[in-house]
Amino acid sequence: MVGDFAPQLPPIGRLLVVVAHPDDESFGLGAIIDTLASNGVPVAVLCFTHGEASTLHARRGDLRRVRAAELSAAARILGIERTDLLDFPDGTLALSPTTELVAQVTTVIGVFAPTHLLVFDDTGVTGHVDHIAATRAALRAAALAELPVLAWTLTKPVADALNAEHGTAFAGRSADLIDFHMPVPRQQQRRAIAAHASQSGHNPVLRHRLNLLGGHEFLRWLLRPQRIDQGDIVYGYTTRLPEAFTPAVVERVKAALKEQGFGVLTEIDVKATLRDKLAVDMEDYLILGACNPPLVHRALGVDREIGLLLPCNVVVRADGEATLVQALDPQVMVSVTGRPELKPVADDAAARLRAALDSLTA
Ligand SMILES: [Zn+2]
Repeated sequence: MVGDFAPQLPPIGRLLVVVAHPDDESFGLGAIIDTLASNGVPVAVLCFTHGEASTLHARRGDLRRVRAAELSAAARILGIERTDLLDFPDGTLALSPTTELVAQVTTVIGVFAPTHLLVFDDTGVTGHVDHIAATRAALRAAALAELPVLAWTLTKPVADALNAEHGTAFAGRSADLIDFHMPVPRQQQRRAIAAHASQSGHNPVLRHRLNLLGGHEFLRWLLRPQRIDQGDIVYGYTTRLPEAFTPAVVERVKAALKEQGFGVLTEIDVKATLRDKLAVDMEDYLILGACNPPLVHRALGVDREIGLLLPCNVVVRADGEATLVQALDPQVMVSVTGRPELKPVADDAAARLRAALDSLTA
């Protein structure tokens, strides 16, 4: 029932998985982790809670200790190299300060040096608020480290079938929001699920989901890999914000530019222009003309022609459910004109633009 309409995953060097509960890595991501680990990808798991709020107690004993042991066993089965089990409160993870959650992910990124992060889709997939909080923290940390983030998701037909049968709140994605299809074996995942005996004894929803998915998993980018340079000519800076394009985001970009002495003199709504003039549809795409008057004054003093390269363009555009903010590198003024006297002005402008972009993810 699920076709291979999406391409397969790009190569992954080292994978950091960030989840809320012990068993998320197996019940949700087990087949994906097993497939990557068997192909030689080192995998680490950061789990924010001990899962102590679970109402399932199929095993006697202190649930926190039981679930920690189950996670270790499942990690061995899935070939996970490193496990960080943290002690944030299960069920109310969203009430923990985001900065604390982000700091934990940042620490593991520093030690494990992943090339990619893997998380639950930002819907939480099952709708659990802890899943949403875990993903949000991972996204922030990844944005700071400029790492791409992949999310595990379900197709809409699978989510709809589960919800109809079990009254659950699974969130599925339509095909256009799914980036990758991954053929998977289930054997190791089923063993890892069995290792979580306190949670998996009687779980008809899980069994039904795995049956519906068969040998298929689906993923999407929450943060795409950076891609700004053409060959080795870098002509701009990019900052990726883990939030959707909204007027509020645009205002935040303008405020950050203003903080660095740039007024926005022009604003071109490319999406609206192409829609009105050509009747074509595209993602949100704004070009802001940013101007720092003292710098413009200095540049014009060196070269009257420099107006051809002014004002400094800053692009704010939607990229899936993230937003890209890109600024032209002012050093282009020096390379295009061949006038080294412009370099001090370009250096000053570059430092201010970088500071403005950096402040957006601080
Ligand atoms: Zn969970």
